[in-house]
Amino acid sequence: MIISRRTSKTLLPHLNQLLRPIHSLPNPNPILSDYYNAYLSLLQSFVSRKAIGPGKQLHARLLLSNLGFDTVLATKLVNLYSDCNHLPYAQNLFDRIPKRNVFLWNILIRGYAWNGPFESAISLYHQMLEHGLLPDNFTFPFVLKACSALSDIDNGREIHKLAVLTRWELDVFVAAGLIDMYSKCSSVEDARRLFDRMSKRDVVLWNSMIAAYSLNGHPSEALSLFRNMALEGLKPSVATLVTVISASADAAALPRGREIHGFSWRMGFSSADKVKTALLDMYAKCGWVRLARVLFEQLLEKRVVSWNAMISGYAMHGHADEALTLFEKMRKEAILLPDNITFVGVLSACSHAGLLLEGRRFFDSMLHDFSIKPTVQHYTCMIDLLGHAGRLEEANQLISKMPMKPDSGVWGALLNGCKIHGDVELGEKALRKLIELEPDDAGNYVILSNIYCQARNWEEAARIRKRMTERGLKKAIACSWIEIRNKHHAFLVGDLSHPQSKEIYGELERLEGLMQQAGYVPDTMPVFHNVSDDEKRNMVRSHSERLAIAFGLISTPPDTVLMVKKNIRVCEDCHIAIKFISQIVNREIIIRDVNRYHHFKGGHCSCHDYW
Ligand code: ZN
Ligand code: ZN
Repeated sequence: MIISRRTSKTLLPHLNQLLRPIHSLPNPNPILSDYYNAYLSLLQSFVSRKAIGPGKQLHARLLLSNLGFDTVLATKLVNLYSDCNHLPYAQNLFDRIPKRNVFLWNILIRGYAWNGPFESAISLYHQMLEHGLLPDNFTFPFVLKACSALSDIDNGREIHKLAVLTRWELDVFVAAGLIDMYSKCSSVEDARRLFDRMSKRDVVLWNSMIAAYSLNGHPSEALSLFRNMALEGLKPSVATLVTVISASADAAALPRGREIHGFSWRMGFSSADKVKTALLDMYAKCGWVRLARVLFEQLLEKRVVSWNAMISGYAMHGHADEALTLFEKMRKEAILLPDNITFVGVLSACSHAGLLLEGRRFFDSMLHDFSIKPTVQHYTCMIDLLGHAGRLEEANQLISKMPMKPDSGVWGALLNGCKIHGDVELGEKALRKLIELEPDDAGNYVILSNIYCQARNWEEAARIRKRMTERGLKKAIACSWIEIRNKHHAFLVGDLSHPQSKEIYGELERLEGLMQQAGYVPDTMPVFHNVSDDEKRNMVRSHSERLAIAFGLISTPPDTVLMVKKNIRVCEDCHIAIKFISQIVNREIIIRDVNRYHHFKGGHCSCHDYW
């Protein structure tokens, strides 16, 4: 208990009496004002220890002593209730306090901003204004946090206006709150405008702006801001490094990630476990899972988040064995309890490797053995697993039993399963749901039209394509990237724009000859039926990932591992072709498509043709 020595002397003899169950207390002492300071110290210690039980007892005692609505004591109580997430108590007491200052309003607004309902924080802020009180540099960050949680940009902008009028806008904490609000409301330009206007920028503010770019899918800007921060002579914090490392992980920008790795090493941060965990996550996401494992083994203390990053890393690459072995190790050797993220990793490992039995076992064990309620992500993994295994009806049943509304991920997994197994009826159902949820995603129409193609129902396939054009939707243009000597090279289907196009197509032709000798027959199924076989072959032959691979082969020494990124799923024919290529040229080729990684080596792929 934190009580100053001076007060504890006077307080201790009375402590037992003060905290005795209420029914056994003697009648209220008329000269309880002597106790005032003691009550105050006690309440302060309850607040710092979040001791809600004793706090409630003391509250009852204060009510009996007619001190229950004293502004100072009641403020402490509201603080205690609010910090312990007993918000109905806090609100009740707050409503009865006759004199309420900004400090008191701030406490309750903060309580709602942290614990929700977030709407209450915003409505309380408006009530505060109606009472003629002006917000201060604490009110703004709290209420902005609630706006961020609700992505409520309209209220956010109004609050910003008042911050300008009250001259709090450029306060570091208020500005950080505004930047965070704009960032969570996907308005990163507004965030940047404010950031640029700040004359004094501390590490917290830089972190908020870097995080804003990272969160809104602008990893390059996040990284360049990070460099500027260093140029301005500010030492980044662990939080800064973790944010930029995650930004490079999402961009799968390995050279930049390596640069930051070097930087954190020079700054003496590389031994920090949080930084190391972010780095291992980045290396795994960029395709270098072996390197990720090296960092994982170097961690001084392996926390659940580190295990999760490593398990998900293996899952993403289709190394289900390693992921599941690591899970067992985490349970047995580290004696750590898995959380719901661990199970997302474990289930997606099962789903990427087609381990239906294991997946079912883990899904059941989550709730029964660990009391973790499956979230929509866990359901998505299960639907994906069942869909791939052709258990489409079972997948459909599981969706109908979901306690929450299935999202586009769930229906997308079912639609994908229907595509693999040619189930037109269920595929249509999934598509209808998907169109409700995301009416402008052309990908859904493309998959359904492919299902009709497989069922040789050309009329329906054409009808779906027509609907797509009527809605003005275009299929995402397939694009692949390869990085050679720190330079990105992008390729579209049938791309002739690269300066070395001639050599690239020459290499593809050379490879195709060798592939055919080795038994490769082009599969042109997903392409339309009203195109001649030769044309189909040409279309498939010049898919963007093949161009990127051919370019990689002619631009690097024989043993170099090639890493190609693609913005959509790899098609069946390219998957077969790349297996042949990996064997013919004796190279490891890694492809990161929109769903996962494929490691091609010696004629095989790590996904075991299951993706
Ligand atoms: Zn292809
Ligand atoms: Zn594969």
